[in-house]
Amino acid sequence: TNTDDCPPDKSELGINTWSFLHTMAAYYPEKPTTSQQADMKSFIHLFSKFYPCEHCAEDLREDLKKHEPEVTSNLTLSQWFCNLHNRVNLKLGKPQFDCRNVLKRWKDGWPDGKCD
Ligand code: FAD
Repeated sequence: TNTDDCPPDKSELGINTWSFLHTMAAYYPEKPTTSQQADMKSFIHLFSKFYPCEHCAEDLREDLKKHEPEVTSNLTLSQWFCNLHNRVNLKLGKPQFDCRNVLKRWKDGWPDGKCD
């Protein structure tokens, strides 16, 4: 059956949200202004108040107290989101992602050309 027009469950919402967050981080400026850095920090904190999975958002707000967003460049932000995602993966019993590959996964594609 075609379920394309049904509301997303927790898993589908997660997949789509990670796609947005990692892509946003990859395309964040290499040299963000002070104001862009402040805005990205605000965005992440506000996001954690409205993410529409209540227990996910609660855990995220706790996580943010221990792991302040690293907003000084697209590279630091991409690593920060990758590490955040890995902490969620750990909690859910999913495999760890190798964060050296995060820009290949979300921006540049893989060296074998399969994404070209
Ligand atoms: P996902 O984990 O959604 O990953 C999608 C793709 O991202 C993967 O196929 C892989 O290519 C890539 N990827 C995997 N790990 C990384 C990484 N570390 N860095 C970069 N790319 C990576 N679900 C719950 O059940 N409980 C929760 O508490 C919960 N909290 C969440 C908090 C947030 C902020 C978000 C965005 C989602 C949360 N989810 C939670 C959803 C959960 O993380 C998954 O999205 C969902 O379980 C579907 O998992 P998946 O295995 O299909 O792939």
